[in-house]
Amino acid sequence: MTDGPASTVGDAGERALIARLSARLAPPPPWVLVDVGDDAAVLDPGRGQVGVVTTDALVEGVHFRRDWTAPDAIGHKALAVNLSDLAAMGAAPRAALLSLALPADLPLGEFDGLLDGFLALARETGTPLVGGNIARSPGPLVLDVTALGAATRRRVLRRAGGRPGDELYVTGRLGAAAAGLRLREAGRAPAGEAERECLDRYERPMARLRFGVAIGRSGTAAAAVDLSDGLADAARQLAAAGSLGVALDAGRVPIHPGAASASPADDGLQLALAGGEDYELLFAVRARRRSRFLAAARRFQTIGITRVGRLLSETGAWLERDGVREPLPEGFSHFEAGRPAGRPWTRNASDI
Ligand SMILES: [Mg+2]
Repeated sequence: MTDGPASTVGDAGERALIARLSARLAPPPPWVLVDVGDDAAVLDPGRGQVGVVTTDALVEGVHFRRDWTAPDAIGHKALAVNLSDLAAMGAAPRAALLSLALPADLPLGEFDGLLDGFLALARETGTPLVGGNIARSPGPLVLDVTALGAATRRRVLRRAGGRPGDELYVTGRLGAAAAGLRLREAGRAPAGEAERECLDRYERPMARLRFGVAIGRSGTAAAAVDLSDGLADAARQLAAAGSLGVALDAGRVPIHPGAASASPADDGLQLALAGGEDYELLFAVRARRRSRFLAAARRFQTIGITRVGRLLSETGAWLERDGVREPLPEGFSHFEAGRPAGRPWTRNASDI
């Protein structure tokens, strides 16, 4: 300890940090029966509901850089990527756990900033923070989040469930987050509203929670996945889970208007397919359920939904351009041999 007020998390110590965090928590919603301060939290699962659990960590130097991204954006993203996985399962969030590994020299102001972003999104989405852990990290800053959700047993959306001929629909417009990253890499300020939106989507992704829950409840989708590693990867995941093939229609992929302009060296379509971190949702839908699915989706007009392809009976992943088939590009993968070195923070972790 040093004399005078602490300026780093190391000066403050674990107990003071936990007290600092706990003091900021809002009163929990009724389904939280035992809150922080006990050895574990206790949740009411809700009548007829099943628990849906997911975890994802953000590691400094792998998923973010502290000199590029403000602390509140890092805190926001740590929760958002987990909420996106709940959304893909059609599950509404019920609670979150946060484990922090902090370098001792992390300024207290940055610790507070991480919580600003995390807790603001937690409030906005009704995801109470009900526990966690704080430890010292001898290296990078790590935010490890577990999110707990709930869904009706028969309405959980899974990656498996697609059949040949199912239509694929994606939310939003793609490539924005990858374009935002390119702006950061180039050290260039965004020019115009579309590019500003790209930077915002990279730093503060919004999980499509209400959309995912609404589609789940509607019972109109056969399968779903979120787009953490790009549309091409998500389409492959849906196909693989059903031992199927997939074809995407290049002319239908909804490209964000900032995706092309932010990075003239990149094809906007390439960013949309393989850029990753858009955290949109991809659904497989039976043709006979199309109109009911679209009716449920139309409640979210500001997000939008686009038919981008279909599942095939024979395996293989294809991009169709003017009637010609070419192999679908790969998405990003950690630990993949031949991954470009030197930019290890470019994409989020794949789900296991
Ligand atoms: Mg996922």
